[in-house]
Amino acid sequence: MKIDHIETFVLKAPLGDQRFYWSQSCATERASLLIRIGTDTGLVGWGEAGVSMPVEHAAAFIHDVAAPRVLGKNALETEPLWHDLYSYSRDFGRKSTPIDALSGIDIALWDIRGKEAGRPVHALMGGAFRDTVRSYATGLYYRGNDVRDVAGAIAQVRDEARGYVERGFTAIKGKVGLLPIRDDIKRMAAVRDEVGADFLLMSDANHAYNFHSAVRMGQALEELDFHWFEEPLVPEDVEGCAALRKKLSIPIATGECEYTRYGMLELLKAGAADILQPDISACGGLSEGQKILALATAYHTPVCLHAWGSGVALAAALQLTAIIPSIPHTAFPVAPENEPMFEYDRNPNPLRDDLLSEPFTLEGESVRIPQGPGLGIEINQKVLAQFTVAGRTSGRGTK
Ligand SMILES: [Mg+2]
Repeated sequence: MKIDHIETFVLKAPLGDQRFYWSQSCATERASLLIRIGTDTGLVGWGEAGVSMPVEHAAAFIHDVAAPRVLGKNALETEPLWHDLYSYSRDFGRKSTPIDALSGIDIALWDIRGKEAGRPVHALMGGAFRDTVRSYATGLYYRGNDVRDVAGAIAQVRDEARGYVERGFTAIKGKVGLLPIRDDIKRMAAVRDEVGADFLLMSDANHAYNFHSAVRMGQALEELDFHWFEEPLVPEDVEGCAALRKKLSIPIATGECEYTRYGMLELLKAGAADILQPDISACGGLSEGQKILALATAYHTPVCLHAWGSGVALAAALQLTAIIPSIPHTAFPVAPENEPMFEYDRNPNPLRDDLLSEPFTLEGESVRIPQGPGLGIEINQKVLAQFTVAGRTSGRGTK
């Protein structure tokens, strides 16, 4: 089955007055880069490349660098194709845009593999540990016209947290790192007060702190019985993260800004992560996700995937989540940290909610892992056309 053509779609959904902030930036739009790979049999596969970046860079890499190497190759041979693209781009790649692009291509090829076999990706990867997964709500960002209005921010996170509880979530992650530490502590304390002691709360700084500030915030989160402290330090500060992990009792979660098995190995070797969070659309795709999972099990480190994107990225994350074992195994899982959860972004994003013909089903806080062939999703062509701002095709004609 030969790869006949590769199409990319840059999707953008402006947020208008629904824009939101975190420690590093403001989201004024949601953007995704979708990839559709076509084969000489007529089978097509969908992928998504990259997160939290200007997606056009990955599109350029796909067409200018990757396409000439993969067009005409066997679409079912994900391993040699991955190795070829990674090796070819090693001298100027290894992280960031080239690996984002490679991730999207790899996901689309796995979609094709699954469709060719008539089975979901997780079945081809060895079989599922679960057909539903507990999700947690990612929210509690900074919103409104004046994000430095502390009283307003506290009222807002209380309201928002209450909304998640009413919708059936028992696990919620909120942002810190934009306001002074004392004010962010007040916000997180308000959330704990609002939801009560039984809820699982996590906090994410998006690498906003230096070591000293991270200790202070980490200790406050410990007192509030938070379940993990995510990306306290910049991703380059692996040693700092390892030292922080020794200093604090709250688990440190990290990995969304890291790439491939090689990057994850550095985090694991250094003892920098209690919970590893690769993003399948960025870390190297589903092929690399499997290898990272093997590494994490060798280091006895639980994995909760980072997920942030359109329905395609979330479908890829769900397929891999199906094959994550409990780390460690127990007959009746009682410790939430042993079980993978699914990151369910609750910020406005029509590319997540409307792009799939059949949206993900949420029963309480459980998400059903798609069971159809490949990623188990169909794209709503009307919605795709509505949000596509740029498209490009390489190939066609090897048929
Ligand atoms: Mg994060």
